[in-house]
Amino acid sequence: MYYKRCFGTIQKGAGLPSWVKWTHHSEGETHCEECLMLDGCWFSKRNAPPCPHHPYCHCTLDPIPYAVVFGNASVYSDYGKFDPYLFNTTGLQTHNKEKLFKEWGYTVDDARWLQAEIERQARERYVSGQYELGKLNMFGQRINIRVTIPKKDGFGDVSFVTGWMVKPNGQIKLNTPYGGK
Ligand SMILES: [Zn+2]
Repeated sequence: MYYKRCFGTIQKGAGLPSWVKWTHHSEGETHCEECLMLDGCWFSKRNAPPCPHHPYCHCTLDPIPYAVVFGNASVYSDYGKFDPYLFNTTGLQTHNKEKLFKEWGYTVDDARWLQAEIERQARERYVSGQYELGKLNMFGQRINIRVTIPKKDGFGDVSFVTGWMVKPNGQIKLNTPYGGK
């Protein structure tokens, strides 16, 4: 919120997070599938996948202004990840995650709120560099982001890890709304 209000001044500030954009350069005939998936993805410089990624990798990590990251980072989640998947409204899931959420006072009636809240927190943490790098493979680079929600029927909060796929140009896409404690 602070940064949003002060958007016009953040470029002048010192100590802002450094961000980089993974850039794949086509040289020769080797096109590593993983490098192609990383092409155009944005990472906090301190929390970027190691580059070069493999022998003869021509990829580079190019600096991007934090203002661009802050102004353009976006999150996307498919509602189906919450209903039917998370809240198991079809009864077809065996993950039992809906039972955890029920303990915390959440049902499918909260699915829209939960989706919006997870997206909000994930964007905030991502642009702050508060994520953990997960598995990278031919489908892309995963990151984990911790979110916190209040217990609806009790006191205190509960926090858990959400799983995301990094997409080009500052987008992250939800893989799993509950990936563990
Ligand atoms: Zn490469």
